[in-house]
Amino acid sequence: MEKLCRRCVVLYSGGLDSLLAVHIMLSLNFEVYPLFVKTPFYNKDEKQLEKGLFGLPVKLHTAKNDEEYLKIVKQPVFGYGKNLNPCVDCKIFFFKQAKRFMDEIGACFVVTGEVLGQRPMSQRSYSVMRAVEKRADLSNLVLRPLSAKCLPQTDMEKEGIVDKDKLFCITGRSRSKQFELAKRFGIEDFESPAGGCLLTDASMSRRVKEMLKYGYNNEFELELLTYGRHFRINSKRFVVSRRKDETYLMLKKFGSVLPLLKCRNAPGAIGVFAVEPDGKDIETAAAVLKRYSKKAELFEYGYKDEVKIVQPVDINENELELLKI
Ligand code: SF4
Repeated sequence: MEKLCRRCVVLYSGGLDSLLAVHIMLSLNFEVYPLFVKTPFYNKDEKQLEKGLFGLPVKLHTAKNDEEYLKIVKQPVFGYGKNLNPCVDCKIFFFKQAKRFMDEIGACFVVTGEVLGQRPMSQRSYSVMRAVEKRADLSNLVLRPLSAKCLPQTDMEKEGIVDKDKLFCITGRSRSKQFELAKRFGIEDFESPAGGCLLTDASMSRRVKEMLKYGYNNEFELELLTYGRHFRINSKRFVVSRRKDETYLMLKKFGSVLPLLKCRNAPGAIGVFAVEPDGKDIETAAAVLKRYSKKAELFEYGYKDEVKIVQPVDINENELELLKI
């Protein structure tokens, strides 16, 4: 029992605060299991996340449950932030994943890099933090080492598993104390706090809202949300790349798994359908794609074993607007 209580799960996002939480718990000789919770809108590169942990005696774990997460985004119990970000419900979801993992590996508690008063929704007050814990069945089992000294005692502090005096009392939006701590732990590279959740972005929120209305057909359709210009052709999502680097990335990611339309006679934008289109859809898509590939005269459509040449017709600005998401 005593041995297991040296084991904790740290919710890790790649940002400085959660990285500090990992460092603090390691400095207190805990066995640390960092957990990254992926969502369709907060989906970081795991290699990049691992880089932040390089040299530390920890192994990154990930958890994800897109279906459950999308239900939350569609109908959050605690409402949205400025855009489509359901931060309080999202935090409950993260905590539930951490609890599941904690039970699985026999850890005793969960640690976060949360700072009291730092964020307007989920970290605005201790009562919100408590409500989040409770809904995830983690009451008094979440340690926030950055703010713990100015928060009520958790079970771990009461039971002497964690020494409160070795923790910190950081509050509010200023990051200066975290930067000092980063120096102390020799942390040089870390992500900016702004990097991350697409649901806090206004244009992305519109796109997600539209998707929640129509639903999505596969995991690729969720991934496509972060790429290109979006159109709905006969209820199917069609995405056109915007720049050369995006064309390259989309080709690499979706070129062999989704129906693809590309210029045949000149370099230019590409378009992918989230699901298999019919002949008429392909013609409309070619007309859309031509608007963004001025030099193109012919397009090539390919999916599975089917390849065909498509001669694009012209569509005007109004027709294009009607298809735009
Ligand atoms: S900003 Fe995004 S990832 Fe962070 S709590 Fe809010 S909804 Fe969740």
